[in-house]
Amino acid sequence: MDSFTDVPRIKESSDIGQQQCRVVTEEEWLQKWQMRNIGFHKEQVHWILRKYLDVLLNGRSGLRIFFPLCGKAVEMKWLADMGHCVVGVELSECALKEFFTEHNLSYSEEPVPGISGAKVFKSTSGNISLYCCSIYDLSSTIAGRFDGIWDRGSLVAINPCDRERYANLMLSLMEGSCCYLLVSVLYDPNKHKGPPFYVPDSEIKSLFGKVCEIKCLEKVDDFSDQHKAWGLDYFLERAGDYSKCFETEHTISIYGKASDVTQSCDCPM
Ligand code: SAH
Repeated sequence: MDSFTDVPRIKESSDIGQQQCRVVTEEEWLQKWQMRNIGFHKEQVHWILRKYLDVLLNGRSGLRIFFPLCGKAVEMKWLADMGHCVVGVELSECALKEFFTEHNLSYSEEPVPGISGAKVFKSTSGNISLYCCSIYDLSSTIAGRFDGIWDRGSLVAINPCDRERYANLMLSLMEGSCCYLLVSVLYDPNKHKGPPFYVPDSEIKSLFGKVCEIKCLEKVDDFSDQHKAWGLDYFLERAGDYSKCFETEHTISIYGKASDVTQSCDCPM
Protein backbone atom coordinates (compact mmCIF):
# COMPACT_ATOMS: atom_id res chain seq x y z
CA MET A 1 0.00 0.00 0.00
CA ASP A 2 1.41 3.34 -0.94
CA SER A 3 0.82 6.39 1.15
CA PHE A 4 -0.84 9.60 0.05
CA THR A 5 -0.69 9.09 -3.71
CA ASP A 6 -4.26 7.78 -4.08
CA VAL A 7 -5.81 9.07 -0.88
CA PRO A 8 -9.20 10.66 -1.48
CA ARG A 9 -9.13 14.27 -0.29
CA ILE A 10 -11.61 14.08 2.54
CA LYS A 11 -12.41 17.05 4.72
CA GLU A 12 -12.67 15.54 8.19
CA SER A 13 -15.84 16.25 10.10
CA SER A 14 -15.83 16.52 13.89
CA ASP A 15 -19.44 15.30 13.91
CA ILE A 16 -19.78 11.57 14.55
CA GLY A 17 -23.56 11.58 14.08
CA GLN A 18 -25.52 8.72 15.61
CA GLN A 19 -22.37 6.83 16.52
CA GLN A 20 -22.19 9.10 19.59
CA CYS A 21 -24.94 7.06 21.28
CA ARG A 22 -23.97 3.62 20.01
CA VAL A 23 -23.11 1.04 22.68
CA VAL A 24 -21.69 -2.41 22.01
CA THR A 25 -22.00 -4.50 25.18
CA GLU A 26 -19.40 -6.93 26.52
CA GLU A 27 -21.82 -9.77 25.78
CA GLU A 28 -21.99 -8.70 22.14
CA TRP A 29 -18.20 -8.82 21.87
CA LEU A 30 -18.09 -12.27 23.46
CA GLN A 31 -20.78 -13.38 21.04
CA LYS A 32 -18.72 -12.16 18.08
CA TRP A 33 -15.93 -14.47 19.23
CA GLN A 34 -18.33 -17.34 19.79
CA MET A 35 -19.96 -16.92 16.36
CA ARG A 36 -16.53 -16.45 14.74
CA ASN A 37 -17.62 -13.03 13.58
CA ILE A 38 -14.02 -11.78 13.88
CA GLY A 39 -13.26 -10.13 10.55
CA PHE A 40 -11.14 -7.62 12.51
CA HIS A 41 -8.51 -10.31 13.20
CA LYS A 42 -5.63 -10.27 10.72
CA GLU A 43 -3.26 -13.17 10.13
CA GLN A 44 -0.34 -10.96 9.14
CA VAL A 45 1.56 -8.36 11.12
CA HIS A 46 -0.05 -4.98 10.36
CA TRP A 47 1.89 -3.05 7.73
CA ILE A 48 1.75 0.13 9.82
CA LEU A 49 3.52 -1.59 12.72
CA ARG A 50 6.15 -2.98 10.34
CA LYS A 51 6.67 0.38 8.72
CA TYR A 52 6.72 2.44 11.92
CA LEU A 53 8.40 -0.06 14.24
CA ASP A 54 11.36 2.30 14.60
CA VAL A 55 9.03 5.06 15.76
CA LEU A 56 7.58 2.76 18.42
CA LEU A 57 10.96 1.49 19.57
CA ASN A 58 12.85 4.76 19.18
CA GLY A 59 16.20 2.97 19.39
CA ARG A 60 15.28 1.15 22.60
CA SER A 61 15.33 -2.58 23.31
CA GLY A 62 13.65 -4.82 25.87
CA LEU A 63 10.54 -2.63 26.06
CA ARG A 64 7.25 -3.24 27.87
CA ILE A 65 4.62 -2.92 25.17
CA PHE A 66 0.89 -2.73 25.84
CA PHE A 67 -1.86 -4.07 23.58
CA PRO A 68 -5.23 -2.68 24.71
CA LEU A 69 -8.21 -4.79 23.50
CA CYS A 70 -5.72 -7.25 22.08
CA GLY A 71 -7.92 -10.03 20.66
CA LYS A 72 -5.42 -12.60 19.41
CA ALA A 73 -3.28 -10.06 17.56
CA VAL A 74 -0.31 -11.76 15.89
CA GLU A 75 1.80 -8.65 16.50
CA MET A 76 2.09 -9.72 20.16
CA LYS A 77 4.14 -12.77 19.18
CA TRP A 78 6.13 -10.76 16.64
CA LEU A 79 7.24 -8.19 19.24
CA ALA A 80 7.80 -10.81 21.95
CA ASP A 81 10.11 -12.68 19.55
CA MET A 82 12.17 -9.49 19.28
CA GLY A 83 12.78 -9.61 23.02
CA HIS A 84 10.11 -7.19 24.19
CA CYS A 85 7.73 -7.89 27.01
CA VAL A 86 4.11 -7.83 25.85
CA VAL A 87 1.04 -7.20 27.98
CA GLY A 88 -2.47 -7.36 26.54
CA VAL A 89 -6.01 -7.12 27.80
CA GLU A 90 -9.03 -8.74 26.26
CA LEU A 91 -12.58 -9.66 27.34
CA SER A 92 -12.67 -12.97 25.50
CA GLU A 93 -10.92 -15.90 27.16
CA CYS A 94 -11.38 -17.89 23.98
CA ALA A 95 -9.39 -15.25 22.01
CA LEU A 96 -6.50 -15.44 24.46
CA LYS A 97 -6.39 -19.23 24.53
CA GLU A 98 -6.46 -19.28 20.72
CA PHE A 99 -3.52 -16.89 20.68
CA PHE A 100 -1.33 -19.24 22.70
CA THR A 101 -2.50 -22.39 20.91
CA GLU A 102 -2.09 -20.95 17.41
CA HIS A 103 1.48 -19.91 18.18
CA ASN A 104 2.31 -23.18 19.96
CA LEU A 105 3.08 -21.38 23.18
CA SER A 106 2.59 -23.05 26.53
CA TYR A 107 1.06 -20.86 29.22
CA SER A 108 -0.14 -20.71 32.77
CA GLU A 109 -3.38 -19.27 34.07
CA GLU A 110 -3.69 -17.31 37.33
CA PRO A 111 -6.27 -15.15 39.09
CA VAL A 112 -5.49 -11.43 39.24
CA PRO A 113 -5.27 -10.00 42.74
CA GLY A 114 -7.35 -6.84 42.74
CA ILE A 115 -9.74 -7.75 39.89
CA SER A 116 -12.46 -10.11 40.91
CA GLY A 117 -13.13 -12.84 38.33
CA ALA A 118 -10.20 -11.81 36.12
CA LYS A 119 -7.43 -14.14 34.97
CA VAL A 120 -3.99 -13.54 33.56
CA PHE A 121 -2.52 -15.93 31.01
CA LYS A 122 1.28 -15.97 31.00
CA SER A 123 3.54 -17.57 28.42
CA THR A 124 5.96 -20.04 29.98
CA SER A 125 8.81 -17.97 28.53
CA GLY A 126 7.49 -15.16 30.74
CA ASN A 127 7.42 -12.32 28.24
CA ILE A 128 3.72 -12.38 27.26
CA SER A 129 1.03 -11.66 29.86
CA LEU A 130 -2.56 -11.37 28.71
CA TYR A 131 -5.25 -10.21 31.11
CA CYS A 132 -8.74 -11.54 30.59
CA CYS A 133 -10.99 -8.75 31.89
CA SER A 134 -12.38 -5.42 30.84
CA ILE A 135 -9.80 -2.78 30.00
CA TYR A 136 -11.53 -0.51 32.52
CA ASP A 137 -10.60 -2.91 35.34
CA LEU A 138 -6.91 -2.48 34.63
CA SER A 139 -4.66 0.15 36.22
CA SER A 140 -0.94 0.87 36.43
CA THR A 141 -0.97 -0.64 39.91
CA ILE A 142 -1.95 -3.98 38.39
CA ALA A 143 -0.23 -3.92 34.99
CA GLY A 144 2.60 -1.42 35.53
CA ARG A 145 3.51 1.28 33.02
CA PHE A 146 4.59 0.90 29.41
CA ASP A 147 7.30 2.12 27.06
CA GLY A 148 5.11 1.57 24.02
CA ILE A 149 1.43 1.07 23.13
CA TRP A 150 0.14 -0.49 19.90
CA ASP A 151 -3.47 0.57 19.47
CA ARG A 152 -5.06 -1.00 16.41
CA GLY A 153 -8.76 -1.82 16.60
CA SER A 154 -8.92 -0.52 20.16
CA LEU A 155 -9.72 3.21 20.41
CA VAL A 156 -11.93 2.63 17.36
CA ALA A 157 -13.67 -0.31 19.08
CA ILE A 158 -14.58 1.16 22.45
CA ASN A 159 -17.93 2.86 22.77
CA PRO A 160 -17.78 6.54 21.80
CA CYS A 161 -19.18 7.56 25.22
CA ASP A 162 -16.20 5.88 26.93
CA ARG A 163 -13.43 7.63 24.99
CA GLU A 164 -12.39 10.05 27.70
CA ARG A 165 -12.22 7.31 30.30
CA TYR A 166 -10.21 5.16 27.88
CA ALA A 167 -7.79 7.96 26.97
CA ASN A 168 -7.19 8.85 30.62
CA LEU A 169 -6.48 5.21 31.37
CA MET A 170 -4.00 5.01 28.46
CA LEU A 171 -2.25 8.17 29.67
CA SER A 172 -1.99 6.70 33.17
CA LEU A 173 -0.33 3.57 31.75
CA MET A 174 2.32 5.49 29.80
CA GLU A 175 5.89 5.90 31.04
CA GLY A 176 7.31 9.37 30.44
CA SER A 177 9.06 8.24 27.26
CA CYS A 178 6.19 6.08 26.01
CA CYS A 179 5.37 6.02 22.32
CA TYR A 180 1.72 5.36 21.50
CA LEU A 181 1.22 4.16 17.94
CA LEU A 182 -2.44 4.51 17.01
CA VAL A 183 -4.29 3.30 13.94
CA SER A 184 -7.60 5.04 13.45
CA VAL A 185 -10.05 4.93 10.57
CA LEU A 186 -11.74 7.62 8.59
CA TYR A 187 -15.11 7.18 6.89
CA ASP A 188 -18.58 8.73 6.77
CA PRO A 189 -20.13 7.87 10.19
CA ASN A 190 -23.63 8.41 8.83
CA LYS A 191 -23.24 5.40 6.56
CA HIS A 192 -21.99 2.73 8.96
CA LYS A 193 -22.87 2.24 12.61
CA GLY A 194 -19.50 0.78 13.66
CA PRO A 195 -17.39 -0.67 15.14
CA PRO A 196 -14.89 0.29 14.00
CA PHE A 197 -16.04 3.78 14.98
CA TYR A 198 -14.95 6.97 13.33
CA VAL A 199 -12.80 9.03 15.74
CA PRO A 200 -12.30 12.54 14.37
CA ASP A 201 -8.83 13.96 14.37
CA SER A 202 -10.05 16.86 16.51
CA GLU A 203 -11.26 14.40 19.18
CA ILE A 204 -7.96 12.53 19.19
CA LYS A 205 -6.29 15.85 19.82
CA SER A 206 -8.58 16.82 22.63
CA LEU A 207 -8.17 13.38 24.25
CA PHE A 208 -4.38 13.16 24.04
CA GLY A 209 -3.05 16.55 22.92
CA LYS A 210 -2.54 18.04 26.40
CA VAL A 211 0.00 15.39 27.34
CA CYS A 212 1.24 13.98 24.05
CA GLU A 213 3.14 15.23 21.09
CA ILE A 214 0.95 14.16 18.20
CA LYS A 215 2.40 13.22 14.85
CA CYS A 216 0.10 12.27 12.01
CA LEU A 217 2.32 9.75 10.22
CA GLU A 218 0.31 8.57 7.29
CA LYS A 219 -3.12 8.29 5.75
CA VAL A 220 -3.86 5.46 3.37
CA ASP A 221 -6.82 4.49 1.23
CA ASP A 222 -7.93 1.10 2.58
CA PHE A 223 -11.28 0.87 0.77
CA SER A 224 -12.29 -2.75 0.14
CA ASP A 225 -15.34 -4.82 -0.85
CA GLN A 226 -16.17 -5.21 2.84
CA HIS A 227 -16.39 -1.42 3.25
CA LYS A 228 -18.46 -1.20 0.07
CA ALA A 229 -20.85 -3.76 1.57
CA TRP A 230 -21.17 -1.52 4.65
CA GLY A 231 -22.49 1.18 2.28
CA LEU A 232 -19.37 3.35 2.38
CA ASP A 233 -17.80 5.33 -0.45
CA TYR A 234 -14.40 5.70 1.15
CA PHE A 235 -12.42 4.22 4.05
CA LEU A 236 -9.01 5.47 5.08
CA GLU A 237 -6.60 4.16 7.63
CA ARG A 238 -4.59 6.72 9.58
CA ALA A 239 -1.42 6.10 11.55
CA GLY A 240 -0.50 8.45 14.35
CA ASP A 241 2.30 8.61 16.89
CA TYR A 242 1.42 9.95 20.32
CA SER A 243 4.52 10.22 22.42
CA LYS A 244 4.19 11.32 25.98
CA CYS A 245 5.69 14.70 26.44
CA PHE A 246 5.78 16.71 29.61
CA GLU A 247 6.99 20.01 28.25
CA THR A 248 4.45 22.80 28.20
CA GLU A 249 4.92 23.40 24.51
CA HIS A 250 4.08 20.59 22.15
CA THR A 251 5.18 20.33 18.59
CA ILE A 252 2.74 18.71 16.25
CA SER A 253 4.38 17.52 13.09
CA ILE A 254 3.01 16.06 9.94
CA TYR A 255 4.92 13.68 7.77
CA GLY A 256 4.28 13.01 4.14
CA LYS A 257 3.76 15.10 1.08
CA ALA A 258 2.65 18.44 2.46
CA SER A 259 0.29 19.27 -0.40
CA ASP A 260 -1.74 16.09 0.12
CA VAL A 261 -1.57 16.25 3.88
CA THR A 262 -2.79 19.79 4.30
CA GLN A 263 -5.82 19.06 2.19
CA SER A 264 -6.77 15.74 3.69
CA CYS A 265 -5.35 15.88 7.21
CA ASP A 266 -6.65 18.28 9.78
CA CYS A 267 -3.63 18.31 12.08
CA PRO A 268 -2.79 21.89 13.05
CA MET A 269 0.68 23.02 12.08
N1 SAH B 1 -6.64 -5.25 18.63
C1 SAH B 1 -7.09 -6.52 18.13
C2 SAH B 1 -8.59 -6.77 18.25
C3 SAH B 1 -9.51 -5.66 17.76
S1 SAH B 1 -11.25 -5.97 17.92
C4 SAH B 1 -6.58 -6.73 16.72
O1 SAH B 1 -5.90 -5.87 16.18
O2 SAH B 1 -6.88 -7.79 16.13
C5 SAH B 1 -11.63 -5.39 19.55
C6 SAH B 1 -11.39 -6.42 20.64
O3 SAH B 1 -11.68 -5.80 21.90
C7 SAH B 1 -12.32 -7.65 20.57
O4 SAH B 1 -11.52 -8.80 20.60
C8 SAH B 1 -13.19 -7.55 21.83
O5 SAH B 1 -13.50 -8.80 22.39
C9 SAH B 1 -12.32 -6.72 22.76
N2 SAH B 1 -13.02 -5.86 23.73
C10 SAH B 1 -14.13 -5.10 23.53
N3 SAH B 1 -14.43 -4.38 24.62
C11 SAH B 1 -13.46 -4.66 25.55
C12 SAH B 1 -13.22 -4.20 26.88
N4 SAH B 1 -14.01 -3.33 27.49
N5 SAH B 1 -12.14 -4.68 27.52
C13 SAH B 1 -11.29 -5.59 26.93
N6 SAH B 1 -11.48 -6.06 25.66
C14 SAH B 1 -12.55 -5.60 24.97
